[in-house]
Amino acid sequence: MEVLIKAVAFAAHKHKDQRRKDAGATPYINHPVALADILASECGVTDVEILCAAILHDTIEDTETTPEELTAAFGERVTKIVLEVTDDKSLPKQDRKDAQVAHAPYLSTQARAVKLADKISNLRDVIKTPPPDWSLQRCQEYSDWCKRVIDGLRGEWLVLEAIFDKQYRERP
Ligand code: NDP
Ligand code: ZN
Repeated sequence: MEVLIKAVAFAAHKHKDQRRKDAGATPYINHPVALADILASECGVTDVEILCAAILHDTIEDTETTPEELTAAFGERVTKIVLEVTDDKSLPKQDRKDAQVAHAPYLSTQARAVKLADKISNLRDVIKTPPPDWSLQRCQEYSDWCKRVIDGLRGEWLVLEAIFDKQYRERP
């Protein structure tokens, strides 16, 4: 419990000036918290390394946080999971999206859970609170790309996969 609260406080601080892309500009931290809620409440995940990695999953990708900083605060195992679900931002955008599809089959079991929760959360956002400047076509292309990523990591988290599939069926 203590390390989980520490992760929430760490991520809330790192994301404090960021907002999501929905019309209401939701505080960014709502998204990592949503991942942990999906994992714990909807799938019964109790592995604290997975839950911490879910809370921290966008800190390296979207803030100035370094892997060394995460390792010092949360250890190597949590940092490894976060790094597995972190895009290489030096790549062009389309290459990053292709890389997520290509790397999905090689993710560890713990990273698969975080990746599934991330795509479930983002698909829910696209359905309920999409970025206002996204066309229907863009929402559909985004949903289909999420499915290509998830199709590459199936077989280990059947409950999460079923939740993802339900969301995908409700896509725009
Ligand atoms: P982006 O990568 O720009 O945005 C999606 C990411 O934004 C999510 O993965 C999520 O990432 C974050 N995010 C923040 N707020 C929201 C929200 N409310 N809803 C959903 N995601 C949110 O989008 P893409 O480049 O992936 O564009 C989607 C698709 O559209 C692509 O497949 C691309 O090919 C296509 N496209 C179409 C265009 C068009 O005009 N038709 C133009 C550009 C792209 P995180 O969890 O990391 O925060
Ligand atoms: Zn995310």
